[in-house]
Amino acid sequence: MQRSTGEYKVKPIKKTVRELLGHPYPPRIPKGVFVEQWVGISTDEFHRAKDADVKYMRNRHPLLDLDWSRTDCVRYLTSRGRAETPKSSCLGCPFHGNAQWRHIRDTSPSEWADVVEFDAAIRQGNARANASGNRLLGEAFLHRSRVPLSQAPIDHVTAAERAALRLGEGEADELENGVVDGCSPWACRGDADTPTQDDFGLAA
Ligand code: SF4
Repeated sequence: MQRSTGEYKVKPIKKTVRELLGHPYPPRIPKGVFVEQWVGISTDEFHRAKDADVKYMRNRHPLLDLDWSRTDCVRYLTSRGRAETPKSSCLGCPFHGNAQWRHIRDTSPSEWADVVEFDAAIRQGNARANASGNRLLGEAFLHRSRVPLSQAPIDHVTAAERAALRLGEGEADELENGVVDGCSPWACRGDADTPTQDDFGLAA
């Protein structure tokens, strides 16, 4: 799961962008034809601002242009009456905290069904990676407890989770509220150069 950014995120984005440009795969896209994508990376996470890897997508980072930190964003949203704006994220992000999983379960049954199905589908790893010899050792789960999402303890942090992590306050908060820092499909925390759940000792 952790090294699946290309397969699960960037690839579908590229497919849609090509369709929007009127040049669906496979023909080459004419020179000079591109989309500009705005990616909301704030100054706290400037190292996650990355270029797209194809010429027909150009990434812009308007929050960096404005020199806005996360605090600046929250202040602005609050001034516009949007203080409760949630952090955007992929539906099946393995860095969700219990609060985010509950929100999906309790507000969007179809998305919950989708993500439960996805969780079951990744148990043996990414089919393409397996086929190319990069077989997953162990099993993958979206929830940190390593329990299938449909049965995972998302209504509370279990004693076993606390003990396993020997939690400090910040880590306990992360189990409930997820990772606060920003990301994007080009700078997913699940990529090899960013921390993964393995680093927390919980993923398969
Ligand atoms: S870390 Fe960010 S980009 Fe990666 S799966 Fe989670 S929400 Fe998506």
